[in-house]
Amino acid sequence: MKICAYPEVLNNMVIEAKKYTPEGKVADYIPALSGADPDTLSVAIYQSDGTCSTAGNIEEMFTLQSISKVLSLALALMDFGEEEVFSRVGKEPTGDPFNSIIKLETHSPSKPLNPMINAGALAVTSMIKGESIEERLGRLLGFVHELTGNPSITYNEEVAKSEYDTAYLNRSLCYFMKQHGVLKDNVEELLELYTKQCAIEINCKDLSKIGYIIANEGKHTDSDRPVIPLHIARILKTFMVTCGMYNASGEFAIRVGIPAKSGVSGGIMASVPHGVGIGIYGPSLDDKGNSIAGMKLLEALSQRYDLSIF
Ligand code: GLN
Repeated sequence: MKICAYPEVLNNMVIEAKKYTPEGKVADYIPALSGADPDTLSVAIYQSDGTCSTAGNIEEMFTLQSISKVLSLALALMDFGEEEVFSRVGKEPTGDPFNSIIKLETHSPSKPLNPMINAGALAVTSMIKGESIEERLGRLLGFVHELTGNPSITYNEEVAKSEYDTAYLNRSLCYFMKQHGVLKDNVEELLELYTKQCAIEINCKDLSKIGYIIANEGKHTDSDRPVIPLHIARILKTFMVTCGMYNASGEFAIRVGIPAKSGVSGGIMASVPHGVGIGIYGPSLDDKGNSIAGMKLLEALSQRYDLSIF
């Protein structure tokens, strides 16, 4: 599959989608994210011939936030296998906001329902192997370096600290799970690792490469070598469809129909199976925490190039 995303066409699509940014709002519950320019929108589309079509200010860096949940899940599945991972986190969408605690209490057993909500992602991060937080974060960063071919990627200390200092909800999710034996970790250490994981900083181009690898059954962009096993790449795409856009995943599947994962920084990573990887950055969010212009842009791309998997 190859789409011809001519620069002029892509630029126009970005201009059109940008019109929606005033309807949204930059995330401010992590104070360090609140200064982002709400009017920014950029996109990169990576394809099998190694070309990357871009529009907007694609040098701009942003933090992965919830997009990192896809990568920590990949690592945990590679380390422990499906049986162990899914004994600690479920496979079903919640229909609740990403940071909700309610299903932990009402759903029995009290393990989190899926790895894309915060509770589930915290349980997954607790599975990243290593002796220290540095080593565990190093493994995650090493994985990102391998996927992107960019060894300079690191985490944004200010964003990580800002989230750690104010992570009252995530702290309560952790303590709730610890009380019920779902987590065994030292909560403060887990939160340090999780907030650093969420603060890994990237640009659209590198994000589109990761999206491409997941789209193409885990094979690397440079040599077709498998960096994510095929069955794990499929699991990742499935979660991206069912839970990737939080409690807007159903609506997104109908309107856009592309496996995608968003983060509250305004990033979206999308993976068109056997096709293209897409990285988007647009920090103005809708009330569910998804990039408002980013979703419009994906909808337009899906329509124009017939990208829906359904
Ligand atoms: N770090 C963020 C949090 O835990 C990630 C959430 C998100 O991107 N939706 O709140």
